[in-house]
Amino acid sequence: MTQRRAWFEDTITRRLITTVALAAATTAGLLQLLATFGGYWAAPNIEQTGLLQEVAAVSRMISVAPPMVRTPLAQAASTEKIMFSWFEAGSATARALETAHYKPEEVRSGRQVIGAFIGDTAIRLDPFSVENPVAAEPGIHVDRKKYPGATFLALQFADGSWLVCAALVRSWGFFTSERLMLELVALVAWVIVVSLIASRQMSRPIETLAEGVRRSGMKPSSPPIRETGPRELRLVVRTINAMQAQIRKFITDRTTMLAAISHDLRTPLTRIRLRGEFIEDAEQQARLFRDVDEMQAMIDGALSFFRDDASCEDMTTFDLPGILRTIINDFADQNIIIEYYGPARVIYQGRPFALKRVFTNLVENAVKYATPPSIVLSCTPEHYTIAISDAGPGIPDSLIGRVFEPYFRGDSSRNRETGGVGLGLTSALATVQAHGGTITVRNRPEGGLEVRVDLPRHDETP
Ligand code: ADP
Repeated sequence: MTQRRAWFEDTITRRLITTVALAAATTAGLLQLLATFGGYWAAPNIEQTGLLQEVAAVSRMISVAPPMVRTPLAQAASTEKIMFSWFEAGSATARALETAHYKPEEVRSGRQVIGAFIGDTAIRLDPFSVENPVAAEPGIHVDRKKYPGATFLALQFADGSWLVCAALVRSWGFFTSERLMLELVALVAWVIVVSLIASRQMSRPIETLAEGVRRSGMKPSSPPIRETGPRELRLVVRTINAMQAQIRKFITDRTTMLAAISHDLRTPLTRIRLRGEFIEDAEQQARLFRDVDEMQAMIDGALSFFRDDASCEDMTTFDLPGILRTIINDFADQNIIIEYYGPARVIYQGRPFALKRVFTNLVENAVKYATPPSIVLSCTPEHYTIAISDAGPGIPDSLIGRVFEPYFRGDSSRNRETGGVGLGLTSALATVQAHGGTITVRNRPEGGLEVRVDLPRHDETP
């Protein structure tokens, strides 16, 4: 019973067996069709038709018969399919046959096929087609319209006389070499077609799986991968889905825990601040308050980061330059001028508020640590690229690789009152990755920092 169910199940083995069986059945069917409707294409090759033996026998007989019986003999040997005519040496047709022009390739291939059968009965062997003018000679005359495929063989005997054999209709198929070549080409083409279909059948579910794994790698909260394809692949998908669910649970637990710790730290911190009021040494008190404020900022930063991460803003269609313009206008209100270069309208599908936070953050960084930046939006067939460049000091090469680490702050940030807690770029990275995009930071050769956000154009982000 289990055995039977296993066979009916969609497995790789079953797919392979089905493909091969179908290919074999179709091949057999096609061959049968060819044999039935293939006309002379499907006919046997000339050696198998018996025609050559017939020509050889008749020509041998006529070559030894006395001249006076040769014509009646030739007439008697003629049938509906093959016509024999004999011409005396020196006759007009014999002369025409002697001086006619034969196509070298026809002669070569004809002699190759018939030479062995005729042996030394004839001193000359000249095959020709109905197109050759000599075929219209009065003694031979075959109606070219009625028999367009007529094929001739002119044999000259030792006494100078000629025997012309005319196969009126082609009863043979390809010659052996042509047939082999054709069979080989057809077989290779057929194998390629079948393999393509079979491998497409196999590769499609694997591609879906790879795409699903890529998505869930980018965003662990993306929906489970669809279970399609043969059983073995479905098993892999199920395992990956289970693993993804575990990772999701792990991340949620960890986030909840960190959020809870950050939240709970606020209360003792408030108590420390209150107790600090009783410190009499003003300088010590100021230092303590600075530390408390810094911790408070870190906790607030962490909490807002977790909040952003947990908020499930819906995907919508919106105007990308529109968002950038809003940010630029907000800064213009504070007399900070930011240049924008790029198209006026680009429709994008994503999470507009999250992306606005990313770009605001990047512009704010430039304003805080460098100069008001310029924003360039460019489009390639695959991506929308937003480059935010400033003319500030950039980030030392030794530190640039760490900018996306949580709580990373450069010296410029530490030394300033305005410095954040070092979660801005971390949270930008998370948002951009959730859109299937990438974010990179580089020091520009001409000075200043360039932050580049590449967002994929296709709407298949989770
Ligand atoms: P924060 O601004 O809260 O410190 P971020 O993650 O946004 O944290 O940035 C990390 C660090 O990268 C900053 O502390 C700063 O040293 C550096 N940085 C960011 N943007 C720029 C910039 N445009 N020019 C120079 N340094 C920058």
